[in-house]
Amino acid sequence: MREYSTFYIGGTWADPADTRTFEVVNPATEEVCGKVASGSAADVDRAVDAARRAFPEWAATTTQTRIELLRRISDEYRKRRNDLAAALTEEMGAPAALAGGFQVDLGAGHLATAIEILEGFAFEQRRGDTLIVKEPIGVCGLVTPWNWPLNQIAVKVFPALAAGCTMVLKPSEQAPFSGQIFAEILDGAGVPAGVFNLVQGDGLGVGAPLSAHPGVDMVSFTGSTRAGIEIARNAAPSVKRVTQELGGKSPNIVLDDADLVANVGGAVATLMNNSGQTCSALSRMLVTRARMDDAAAAARDAAAQLSVGDPTGDVALGPVVSGAQFDKIQALIRKGIDEGATLVVGGTGRPDGLTKGYYVKPTVFADVTNDMTIAREEIFGPVLTILGYDDIDQAVDIANDTDYGLAANVAGADLDRARAVARRIRAGWVTINDAFDFHAPFGGYRKSGNGREWGEFGFEEYLETKAILGYAPE
Ligand code: NAD
Repeated sequence: MREYSTFYIGGTWADPADTRTFEVVNPATEEVCGKVASGSAADVDRAVDAARRAFPEWAATTTQTRIELLRRISDEYRKRRNDLAAALTEEMGAPAALAGGFQVDLGAGHLATAIEILEGFAFEQRRGDTLIVKEPIGVCGLVTPWNWPLNQIAVKVFPALAAGCTMVLKPSEQAPFSGQIFAEILDGAGVPAGVFNLVQGDGLGVGAPLSAHPGVDMVSFTGSTRAGIEIARNAAPSVKRVTQELGGKSPNIVLDDADLVANVGGAVATLMNNSGQTCSALSRMLVTRARMDDAAAAARDAAAQLSVGDPTGDVALGPVVSGAQFDKIQALIRKGIDEGATLVVGGTGRPDGLTKGYYVKPTVFADVTNDMTIAREEIFGPVLTILGYDDIDQAVDIANDTDYGLAANVAGADLDRARAVARRIRAGWVTINDAFDFHAPFGGYRKSGNGREWGEFGFEEYLETKAILGYAPE
């Protein structure tokens, strides 16, 4: 049983303003596994105040000073990898191999990327007589979700630190352990007092006052579209910058020259990874109508191979994060059946042999049409929908017919053809044959959000642009 009773404010482990706590439930056991201090507006005030006081000095540091800090953080992060992984497994159910592998690696990847960018970034450029300067935007409020907790903390904190900003982080109340260890890592690396602050708590108690705070210059949020809208609304009166990384219902267009069995198998494994709790999950697979039955069979075989169970063991899928999430996924699976999609594998209820824990059967629906609820709503569980198309134009229309626009993939052997389709997709992160790049900008069109994270584009979200006219008269 973990207990975290302090926040990290102004370089010290600070007692909260009041004694309220919240409990964390281990989704594999459904038992309480931790108690964490629950913050309030008074804690946000103290943390923002600490960040404001630290800002002038941190903003004025050289890039070399900031790189040195990031390198020290990298060393500490490496030392705490096992602690981070164990925390992730406990708080959100990621299987040990995933938690200690990709989940922790993503955080390290964003740290390495922040260092690389800072090493080469041009903060100033001349345009005629004018000097254009990129300056840190100020105090940042960072609000993160539970599904890839470290990835989302890292992709905000490291570029913000690199840019010269100070910040207050509020991790998800469903996954607060990794956030607390993350703060210990920064403390261990000697982050200057007030540059990084941590306040734990829920959306209304901490997230809302942080986004509304007049002392916060920018809010970076990742989570649901619902909360993203609330944050923007609360931030509006103080006209701060708001970046939102929200939900998705991303298409995966399998072209007719793609190796069907290999692509479908790979796509099932990737979607089901992290129990489908990935904002950019390719949850709508599009195949030519003629290949629907073969795709369904390949997906069934791939899903049947995935082991589900205790995430501390050697399994492909752990539980989903919470009872609420479990219920929502069950209701959507039921809806898919009721609306007439073909259930290929999986379905409602827990996988055989599991009587406790929020475990969901890896589920595949075929013959899905894009008007069905399971093709429109983000399920955020291990549920794949397969839709048929007649020709490329129709595939592109279906792919773009969504309220979201976060990610997409185009699978195909002919690169020119795949490229042409990728250009027509209205989404922010479009991969060809599942490519990956830490430097590519990540973010969404439409209800998937505003702004970009990752790489140089993410870094620039933490900068203001200043023009000094007449700086260098001829
Ligand atoms: P959530 O929106 O419920 O919570 C996310 C964070 O926002 C939490 O820290 C929460 O406490 C806080 N919050 C909630 N209401 C708030 C409010 N009114 N004001 C301020 N803060 C508030 O989302 P979740 O359930 O934790 O995460 C799942 C969602 O996140 C999914 O919809 C998923 O698609 C999305 N997501 C998006 C990305 C992306 O990069 N686009 C990445 C991961 C997750």
